[in-house]
Amino acid sequence: MTHPPASDATPPRPRRECPFEKIHPSELTRDDAFFMALAYNQAIEAWRNDEVPIGAIITHNNGTILAAAHNGVDTLRDPTAHAEILAITQASAQLNDWRLNNCTLYVTKEPCPMCSGATIMARLSRVVYACGDPKMGCLGGAATMHTLPRLNHRVQVTTGILEAQCRNLLQAYFAEKRATA
Ligand SMILES: [Zn+2]
Repeated sequence: MTHPPASDATPPRPRRECPFEKIHPSELTRDDAFFMALAYNQAIEAWRNDEVPIGAIITHNNGTILAAAHNGVDTLRDPTAHAEILAITQASAQLNDWRLNNCTLYVTKEPCPMCSGATIMARLSRVVYACGDPKMGCLGGAATMHTLPRLNHRVQVTTGILEAQCRNLLQAYFAEKRATA
């Protein structure tokens, strides 16, 4: 009994049209809105790959970009392939260190339980997310994992950067999915 090699077993996934344009922020002001715009652009890439449009960026110190990733659960057939996890893996590889001290994660939606836990395990200094998730978000939405009283490491959390834009993108994606289902 022989099995086909795994690489041949994965057909290419069709690209999807995304009705939203990428943002082209000015390089002159590398603030939270700038990096969130790059995370938003990753989310648009996710949509084009027929993935739930969530994107993430990780920066180091003065704003050096270490990682850019988007949700890839369907493409990779991996329930852990959330934008945040993929970005954390990339950033750790860049620094050659699992400790992401002095790093900030920008993500278009509040991290789920798995990703919130990963931000703590990675010792990220800061997480900035666009829109909250009252169902699954664990950095203030449904639960507040980062304020557990016995944690040695505290992740600083900032919310609401590009909130409306990132929420619109998600809502439009799910509306289109429902309409074409
Ligand atoms: Zn997640």
